Amino acid sequence: MSYTVLARKYRSLTLDDLVGQEPIATTLKNAILSGRVHHGFLFTGTRGVGKTSSARLLAKSLNCLDGDQPTPTPCCACESCIRIAEGEDIDVIEIDAASNTGVDNIRDLREAAAYRPARARFKIYIIDEVHMLSPGAFNALLKTLEEPPDHVKFILATTEIHKVPATVVSRCQRFDFRSIGIDVIAAHLEHILEQEGVETEQTVLRRVARLANGSMRDALSLLDQLLSFGGGKLSTELLDDVLPVAHDEVIAAMLDHVADEDAAGALARVEQSLASGQTLDRYCEMTVNHLRTLMLLNLCGADTELIDLPSSVRDQFVIQAARFDAATYVYMISLMEEVRRTVKSSIASRAIVDAAVVRMALAKNFSNIDELISKLESAAPEQAQSAPPPRTAQRRMAAPPPQRAAADTTRPAPVPAAPSRSSVSSEDKAKVLRDPNIEHAMDLFDGVLQNVQRVSPSATQPDDPNPTTDAAGDALAEGDN
Ligand SMILES: [Zn+2]
Repeated sequence: MSYTVLARKYRSLTLDDLVGQEPIATTLKNAILSGRVHHGFLFTGTRGVGKTSSARLLAKSLNCLDGDQPTPTPCCACESCIRIAEGEDIDVIEIDAASNTGVDNIRDLREAAAYRPARARFKIYIIDEVHMLSPGAFNALLKTLEEPPDHVKFILATTEIHKVPATVVSRCQRFDFRSIGIDVIAAHLEHILEQEGVETEQTVLRRVARLANGSMRDALSLLDQLLSFGGGKLSTELLDDVLPVAHDEVIAAMLDHVADEDAAGALARVEQSLASGQTLDRYCEMTVNHLRTLMLLNLCGADTELIDLPSSVRDQFVIQAARFDAATYVYMISLMEEVRRTVKSSIASRAIVDAAVVRMALAKNFSNIDELISKLESAAPEQAQSAPPPRTAQRRMAAPPPQRAAADTTRPAPVPAAPSRSSVSSEDKAKVLRDPNIEHAMDLFDGVLQNVQRVSPSATQPDDPNPTTDAAGDALAEGDN
């Protein structure tokens, strides 16, 4: 038994059932009804949005033999209608400009166009991918477009309107085909599966619709692919096995794990995305974009126009948006953006991405720097009291402020923590002396303390005799006190 692909089996029969391009269908129908049919049409839009289908439907409307004039509701049963639907009609000539780019092809066309149609009212030329024509061919076409015989109509289709000369565009009635919405595609798929007697779930339909990226043709071929595996039922499991991963869904799932503080689950989702061929920086970029969408929904409300989301997925996004607060979004976006920039140059890029995801999931376990500092600051005097006094008069103070400055170089350090490296003013020294930790230390040593040095945690060398020029760590020297 032969299998007819869905796109062919369920193709639109008239302009009335053209899916997803209703405004264009309405305009064309009105033109036919009013008898004002232009001699040149230009259909533009991305692939799979119905340009060629519309061209054939228009041709059927113009050439249907059932009545004595063009009709928006062709019979679909006459010789013309049947042949046009197959793309084999004698009077409706389909030309693929990609393989007929030359001037000779168009000259042949012009000569043939002079003869009246063999059977129907009009000789209709459907030129697909018209932007592929050579400049000479466009010039030849232009002459015919300017003054075509009354019995000739042109329907030009292109995915790249910017490559079509303005002189050609201006001689045609232009129709911009839009990408078909997820809702519309999903509803059409559902309708088809009902006819086919195949059970399915809404999530499957939506995922196929999303993967099709606005192209009904792609959606139908994906469905063909699924049906050849699935038999009588299309499940999400089957989808996972057969179809490419829908990356935005996997990222949404990863962030749900993050919200649940489930690091293992989040990492598994990272693996799922990357295993399906996603690159690391693209993964980070998509995550940042996803987080931005959530943040705007969270802050500006579900109806915000700042983001362009199909209504079909908006509800899911709104639910997820409530799972984090504004500060967390800001943190996660800057983290992932930092990671995105790093992964390009790092040899441990995968580990960096994984670590960032773990960090987001377990953010509560990673106290922020300010909290750590205040804990250290409050703990430091007690520790100093219980610790044995140092044997020498010189003591290295691992005071909290330098740690803070060293650990977090991206923000301006608090005043006592960041004396200038190159020079230590008396004001700086005074500030250091006002530090409660140092005051406490001075009390402990009862004026014996001669030198206070601030060093970075990485500095392991003994005290530098000239600490103010020590590049390894900021240091302050304080003389006899
Ligand atoms: Zn007909």
